Amino acid sequence: MIYHKSVKVGESFYCYVWMGKGNNCNASLLCHTLRGGRPHVLVDPGHIKNELGENCFDSLTLAMEKDGFKVEDVGLVICTHSHPDHFEAAEPVVERSGALVALSREEDEFYANTGSHFYSYFGSKAPQVKSFFHLKEGDLNLGARNKLAIKVLLTPGHTPGSISLYLEKTKVLISGDVVFLGSIGRTDFPGGSASLLRRSIDRLSQLDVEYLIPGHSTEAGNIIAGKDKVIRNFHLVKMFI
Ligand SMILES: [Zn+2]
Repeated sequence: MIYHKSVKVGESFYCYVWMGKGNNCNASLLCHTLRGGRPHVLVDPGHIKNELGENCFDSLTLAMEKDGFKVEDVGLVICTHSHPDHFEAAEPVVERSGALVALSREEDEFYANTGSHFYSYFGSKAPQVKSFFHLKEGDLNLGARNKLAIKVLLTPGHTPGSISLYLEKTKVLISGDVVFLGSIGRTDFPGGSASLLRRSIDRLSQLDVEYLIPGHSTEAGNIIAGKDKVIRNFHLVKMFI
């Protein structure tokens, strides 16, 4: 069963928008990006199975296959943060492809100390994967084939080490759980901070964005498309914090 809607945003960028009834995140695929035999970069693979028993990872796998991409060809998994609904499926991706995993240093430390214990709260098992390298603020140099300019922004608040990704060429912003359509990330989970989230939202609102891919869709299947809509959304959510 496929619960993800595939949205092709740019030449080498697909968003897999979660359409199921239960909780899961939107995933993104930067395809044919890395050199070598496993060229795809998968951002936020999501849950394996969610609280309603929807097979989220199987769905993502099938949705990617429909577009001609195999999980076995993923060379890198980037997670915006370590919550189960973004990070849990990193483990089966690594099992199937041997992909490397990347989090920010701050998030990796949070995961080791606190975040991994958070999984039992959701009745799931913390993934036994190690971050191979740490995402730092600034340009992400992947030795990429097609020279995608990817900027990493440290955007803490929802978790201590949350990151957002900005693709300069296509003006795509992957915001994780910092900002949604008409809403913002929760700060009441362990490690959350409303003041840091406010600063992070401020930073993201300065970017020139055509497509905002939020960590979750607050209306069925949406991403926020169009510069004006993105700007209006930032104006709106700033009133909440
Ligand atoms: Zn989260």
